[in-house]
Amino acid sequence: MANFKIPILMYHSIESMPKSTVMRSLHVPPRRFRFQMWMLKVLGYKGLSMKELKPYLEGDKDGKVVGITFDDGYQNVLLNAAPILKKYNFSATCYLVSESIGTSNTWDLNKKITQRPLMTENEIYEWLSLGMDIGGHTQTHVDLTNVSEQRVQNEIYDSKADLEEKFKVTISDFCYPFGRFNDIACNITKKSGYLSATTMIRGRADSQSNMFQLPRIPINHHTLPHLFLAKILTKYEDKR
Ligand SMILES: [Zn+2]
Repeated sequence: MANFKIPILMYHSIESMPKSTVMRSLHVPPRRFRFQMWMLKVLGYKGLSMKELKPYLEGDKDGKVVGITFDDGYQNVLLNAAPILKKYNFSATCYLVSESIGTSNTWDLNKKITQRPLMTENEIYEWLSLGMDIGGHTQTHVDLTNVSEQRVQNEIYDSKADLEEKFKVTISDFCYPFGRFNDIACNITKKSGYLSATTMIRGRADSQSNMFQLPRIPINHHTLPHLFLAKILTKYEDKR
């Protein structure tokens, strides 16, 4: 079977933020996001959650597909991205920090990164009811390469169990906080029953990719249309 390249897009926050914002690159303005989704649609691509993308990643299905992921669970993703995804009949995975639901990105405080509200429990139900999916992103957004093995186990396994109990859905996809992982984190993710894990390694995935070290394509504030297209359609991001 042909070795199709599958872009998995990585977004964080979908909101227009003032110029003075620290790490403004993490925030994609809604109009830009809308244009990107429209472009995918026009090009004949379907945007999929990680759960729906799995058969494509494993080479069991082929087609023009793109994975869509949002890290951390910002409220603005429900408000600004979900209606656009719904309009194009796309789905997406939002990775949640199980103990930060309804709070903000406090793990960024020491870097003075702007605080944005994270979805509450009710808002996550709303996200799910729109046909979107959720994945795990640990309990506390910890750097998994910097804590004890027991803590890694708790952060990965317990967050999955907590989310499943709370939202009554199977949590099958994981994302390493800060994109940081090692063999221990990778093995524990596998053993916890997850079926995939995404990183911040840049590149497009394909059927040869390790399902627990999936590369992604960062889309940020500065990703203008021509760059967005290059990232999806060309080798621009591969093996950078
Ligand atoms: Zn994160």
